[in-house]
Amino acid sequence: MSNHHPIPMVDLTAQYPLLRDAIESGLHQALDEAKFIMGPNVAALEAETAEYLGADHAIGVASGTDALHLALRGAGVNPGDEVITTPFSFIATAEAICYIGAKPVFVDIDSSTFNLDPDAVEAAITERTRAIIPVHLFGQPADMPRLQAIADRYSLQIVEDCAQSFGADINGQMTGTIGVTGAFSFFPSKNLGGYGDGGLVTTNDEAIADQVRMLRNHGSERRYYHDRIGYNSRLDELQAVILRAKLPHIDTFNQKRREVAARYSEALSQLPEITVPHEDGIGKHVYHQYTLLCSDHRQREHLMHALSEQDIASAIYYPVPLHQQAAFANESGKADGVLPVAESIAKRCFSLPIYPELPAADIDRVIAAIHAAL
Ligand SMILES: *Cc1c(COP(=O)(O)O)cnc(C)c1O
Repeated sequence: MSNHHPIPMVDLTAQYPLLRDAIESGLHQALDEAKFIMGPNVAALEAETAEYLGADHAIGVASGTDALHLALRGAGVNPGDEVITTPFSFIATAEAICYIGAKPVFVDIDSSTFNLDPDAVEAAITERTRAIIPVHLFGQPADMPRLQAIADRYSLQIVEDCAQSFGADINGQMTGTIGVTGAFSFFPSKNLGGYGDGGLVTTNDEAIADQVRMLRNHGSERRYYHDRIGYNSRLDELQAVILRAKLPHIDTFNQKRREVAARYSEALSQLPEITVPHEDGIGKHVYHQYTLLCSDHRQREHLMHALSEQDIASAIYYPVPLHQQAAFANESGKADGVLPVAESIAKRCFSLPIYPELPAADIDRVIAAIHAAL
């Protein structure tokens, strides 16, 4: 037990003082105007995110999960199609495929970045394969150059899951603008997060943008005329106010995340018992999570327990790969041992506290606790 303050995974209150004036004045104005559905802030956020990301179109939707779902529909994925994706992600990546009646095909990941292994993707392609969903996991861009080459060779669409990678780029090209569409989440703890749910679809394809705009609003372009069955999946106007206040700071926030990660890695990379995050240099890592790899699951338990004894949070992203989840026990499930890298990483990884304002003294306390435990 310690008399230190607790260190959480994320502290959203730490950012509010910087944003308070912009958020409060924006909210007051939005409340006075009372244009709560598809109002001026949603339109402005769409324009501002499109500009920031370098996308022709950015379309606000209700969540990152919906962004994936509508992006896949816009990209022309149909019932019965196969979509190749990673088993080492949040379940929403694969759920979105199932919403369409398409089939998630899970393939193994790279053991050092935990991102999709392009060779495994290519080996899984069949005549039913329609699309690939790479996840830029923990904020590190997936190997888009190789994945895009494979997609081009087999005429497949790439829908990028950018829920954890807002602001990450590959040679100056933002994630979300490399494949045919990108899907972002504004869940509060994401690198660009609202104060509730929200999401964004990006594309340079006008026809896809039109489809997504229609689908998020009941299949309608003109009020009370419905071209197809759609959804109620609009981005909330008040969330757009908050996101607009945060967007100008996103590069600073991501830079601070990189500095936190560098301080951790500097102090932990010499320890033979653990492996620090590997930057493969394909793109810029924006450290949505800072994830360590232990030699086995017992050592992970030991370290997480030692941290919690010091009131330091840690978390496992993700303890069960998607191909071993009960929800996929049917045709997308796979027997133990079939995707060995994902299964091994899931047993050995855990993540440390990280957010832009994490104080250096707290980082050092986390580092000291790990050194003491090993
Ligand atoms: C958060 C997340 C999602 C889902 O986003 P929501 O906004 O919570 O629906 C999808 N994929 C990944 C990789 C995520 O981290």
